[in-house]
Amino acid sequence: MSDCCSVNANSGSAPAAMACPANGTRSKRVDTLTVKSLARKLPLGMPNTQYYFCDASDCELVYFALDTEAPRFRREDLFVRVGAKETADPIPICYCFGFTRQDIWDEMRSTGKSTVAERIKIEVEAGHCACEVKNPSGKCCLGDIRRAAKDGLRVVQGNGF
Ligand SMILES: [Zn+2]
Repeated sequence: MSDCCSVNANSGSAPAAMACPANGTRSKRVDTLTVKSLARKLPLGMPNTQYYFCDASDCELVYFALDTEAPRFRREDLFVRVGAKETADPIPICYCFGFTRQDIWDEMRSTGKSTVAERIKIEVEAGHCACEVKNPSGKCCLGDIRRAAKDGLRVVQGNGF
């Protein structure tokens, strides 16, 4: 995605995705910088290995590594709430500028549409985002913002939820 601001992980030869050892969800690579930035406490002697991010809502595990001996990080090991794993508000979506799912839906309720993606895009283009150290996925949130806005349409129209 051209509007994505995330830095490319130093991929090496590690697979692009791995199955989460807790629940089998296909999990994508995440930069070690992201893991180190969001973990409350780093274990001593953390090995240099490729980490992966499990975004399944029914799984407590957030980060696991290619090296199965490497420490794993669960939800409670992180500073932030992992939006993809939360079912109760506040559900953070944009970690750089602090937008939650509620913010998006509130705007849609009052105006009928969401302008959050456009507002974030302007900030991204100006180089103001820091997804790789703030977002648990290490990636740009714009895809998640657009998904939340799509879900919001159903809420605003009163179907479901
Ligand atoms: Zn998992």
